[in-house]
Order: sequence, then structure tokens, then C-alpha cells
Amino acid sequence: MTNLSDILADLPTGLLIGGKWRDASDGATIDVYDPATEEVIASVASASEEDGLAAVAAANEAGPDWAARAPRERAEILRKSFEMLIARKDDLARLITLENGKALKDAQGEMAYAAEFFRWYAEEAVRNISELSTAPSGNNKIMVLQQPVGVSLLITPWNFPAAMGTRKIGPALAAGCSVILKPASETPLTALAIAKILEEAGVPPGVVNVIPSSRSGAVCSRIINDPRCRKLSFTGSTQVGRILLAEAAKSVVNCSMELGGNAPFLVFADADIDAAVEGAMVAKMRNGGEACTAANRFFVEAPVVEEFAQKFAAAMEALHVGPGLDDGTDLGPMVNAAACKDISALVDDAVGKGAKVVTGGGQQEGVGHFFQPTVLTGVSDDALILNDEIFGPVAPIIAFGSVDEAVARANDTEYGLIAYLYTGDLAKGLAVAERLDAGMIGLNRGVVSDPAAPFGGTKQSGIGREGAHDGMMEFLEKKYIAVSW
Ligand code: NAP
Repeated sequence: MTNLSDILADLPTGLLIGGKWRDASDGATIDVYDPATEEVIASVASASEEDGLAAVAAANEAGPDWAARAPRERAEILRKSFEMLIARKDDLARLITLENGKALKDAQGEMAYAAEFFRWYAEEAVRNISELSTAPSGNNKIMVLQQPVGVSLLITPWNFPAAMGTRKIGPALAAGCSVILKPASETPLTALAIAKILEEAGVPPGVVNVIPSSRSGAVCSRIINDPRCRKLSFTGSTQVGRILLAEAAKSVVNCSMELGGNAPFLVFADADIDAAVEGAMVAKMRNGGEACTAANRFFVEAPVVEEFAQKFAAAMEALHVGPGLDDGTDLGPMVNAAACKDISALVDDAVGKGAKVVTGGGQQEGVGHFFQPTVLTGVSDDALILNDEIFGPVAPIIAFGSVDEAVARANDTEYGLIAYLYTGDLAKGLAVAERLDAGMIGLNRGVVSDPAAPFGGTKQSGIGREGAHDGMMEFLEKKYIAVSW
């Protein structure tokens, strides 16, 4: 294992534009903090609008050659990138923990997941299948080609600094697009480390450009409104997603949106309660609750609510909270002070409206942004925590009386990313799954993410899908040729 100072010393901290690592045009930088110690661990270049346009020019120049390469060649570069990520996964996981805070075992899980997108899209790159049919009139053939959409702007959040990048870069490169990656300002280091690996794996200059920037709004707006940019793929909050959709409307840029969630977790009385608690721990606590897929509201059928709450609270209490890099840590710090403040505000509001704190309840004193694993019961319907994304280790539990009530309450949100349900009756589970307004369902499972499955939401949780073959389709456009022969 490489020691941390060597990992950091080896890390590029500039912008990657057209195959060159360089400072921002105006010399601006972003300080990156360790959320466990609140100390600065690195400073990286912060792109200006001018740098953003330079990245568009570089991607535009490199795009046609990349698109024209044999699919097998693109596939093999992605495959090599997968192998290199796997070879360096332990160092990369430690880098994720250092800048994001999450427990090392969560970071290791993320790296395995992140690398799989390169393997999966190495396999998909050679499966860009076109269609040919005879027109109903019999007069001509209908030929449909799939062509790369073009220069793509990829904007990613801080909660999965590696996987949210590879989930976009993999399909874009497989489809033949060149990209500009704008990672979150909280966690740019992992993105820069992955970009360096892509270079080493043989991605040509200009095909992957990386521009951390603390001036996200201005820089991304300039890029989106440049006619050479043809695609925006965004993962982040619904609030910023709305801003970007409005921005993209001006030049009718093709958009894929992976936005926020407010996942319900339903437990029916006929469920195996121990299995439901185990699933709840994963659905709530993977990534310390800082996940778009995190269970946000636990609806439990009245006869088993007491048993579920007690067992769930016991499991939450058993978690070891500490710096993510320490051995035995289950829950690391939240990403920053603002995140802790937002979570505290939701808990305080719920408690003020009558909720009971079964365990936890607040931020830990001292250095670092640590929040106690928290379980609330008796949460009133008007508590903000039932409407807002918690994005932390807090679980509100609410009792329900009937299947119809559970479904109605689960669907009573503007979000539709994912829903979970536990029942011993599979037929009932499938029937309820059909009625839940969500793009993904965990049926007797607390985790669904898989590079081979379509990931994405309905309603205000997003537009489009990542992963599976669908993920590559987001970076392809159909061209119809009417042909007679
Ligand atoms: P965020 O505040 O929306 O930021 C996401 C990214 O957008 C960051 O790179 C950010 O850059 C950038 N950004 C912010 N304002 C922008 C603007 N006006 N124009 C262009 N870019 C802008 O989200 P976050 O706090 O990083 O991440 C948490 C959110 O992501 C949660 O809502 C979570 O549910 C969602 N998420 C969704 C999925 C999914 O697949 N559906 C997966 C993971 C996370 P700066 O860092 O420089 O501000």
C-alpha cells in the first residue's frame, strides 16, 4: 500500500485540456479539505470561463478522430482503463476517503463499482447495433444508424467522486464522444487521478478533458451555450438540474439528468424483519446516507413497527463513527459543515413537531463533520424530513395501516428515483412494485446499483438512464437514411 503523502505527491492538480496539464488562465485554485480533520490536503486549479472554452475546443478537435476509431480499439482502451483502476483501487479508495470522508470500506465498494463501468462499456462499445427494415409501402429500406452525439459536458457530484465520473465517461467514450468532465469542487482529486489513468491507458489527448472549477455556474453556462457542445450529462441535486435544463434549453442541448431522491422503504408485516433491518442498514447507511438512493422515509406496517424500530436502532447504535481511514470505522464524517447543519436542521424540525429520538440525534462535538447515526419515530406528516433529501445518517420511521396507504404515502413526493420494499409474499411485492412511482425498486434488497442495469429516476429525479445498454444510448443519436436499391 502506498502511503498517503506519496499518493498526494503523485497527483496532478492542474486542469487537463487537450492532453496538457495546466494552471487556470487566471491562476485561481480550489482548496480541498479532509472532512475528518478540516485541514487542507491539496489545492487544484479552478477553471475560468476561458479555460472552459479551451476545453470545448480541445474536445471538438479530438472528437472526429475518436469517433472514427474502430469500436474494438475504443473498447480495448476502456478495458485497459478498467484493469488499471482495479490495479490501483486501494490507493484510489484512500484518496476518495481523504477528500470525501466516507468510511474506507464504502470507498473500496465505490472503486469496485466505478471500475466496472469501464469493463461494461468496453463490452458495449462493440455493440452499437444499427437497424434495417423495409418500409411498409415496400418502396424503400429504412436504415437507422447510431452516431455519437458529439462533445459532451459531464458534471458530477461529490458523493461518489469516482463512480459518477466513470458512469458517464465509460459510455461516452464507448459511443465515440469526446468529453469535458467538471467534477464537484469538494472532491476534484479522484477525478484528476482517474484522468491520469485514462491518459496512461491510451485515451488520446483532448478526448477526456477535466476542469475542476469553483465557478461552476458561469463556466458550465459558457460551455453549454457554445454550439460545439452537443450534450449535457448531469448528476447532482434537482435544484441545480433545473437551472441546467433551463440553460440547455437556450441552445437545445441534449440532456441526461440524474437528480435527487426521497426514497421510501416499505416494510410489510409479513416480511422477515431481520432481513428488512439488514436491508435498511444498507439502503440507509451505504455512503453514510450521502447517496441519492439512500432510504429517506421508512414506512412500516403497524404490527411490526416497534420490533423494526428497536432492531434498526440497535444496528445503528452498533456502528463505529470515526475518521474514514481508521480501521473499524463504519461511518465517516459528512462532507462538510454545511451538510451537518442541513441534517441537524431537519432533525430539529422533526423533533420540534413531536418526533421521538430513539438513538443519536445530532452532530458530534469536536473536530470533523461527524453526525450520529439517528433513528426517529412518531414523525409528523408536516415534518420537513419527509419531503427533503436528508443526505445523512438519519432514519425517520412512520407506521402505516394498509397497502393502499403505504403506496400513496410512498408516492407522495416530487421525486421518483428509487423505492425499497420488504415482504414475505413475492406476488404482493411485485404488485406493489408496479404501483410505486420510481425508476428503480429494491424488492427484498437494500441495494440495486449495477453497471449492467438501467439506473435513473422518474418525476423530478431525472431524465434518462445510466448503466446498461441504455447508458450508451444517451451518447448516441439516431440517423435515419431512406434508401432504395
Ligand atoms: P449539486 O450541488 O447539484 O452539485 C453537483 C455538481 O453540479 C457539482 O459539480 C457542482 O459544482 C455543479 N454545480 C453546482 N451549481 C451549478 C451550476 N449552476 N451550473 C453548473 N454546475 C453546477 O449536488 P451535490 O451536492 O454535489 O450532490 C448531491 C446531490 O446529487 C443530491 O441531490 C443527490 O441526490 C444527487 N445525486 C444524484 C445521483 C443520481 O444518480 N440520481 C447520484 C449521486 C448524487 P460545485 O461543486 O463546484 O458547486
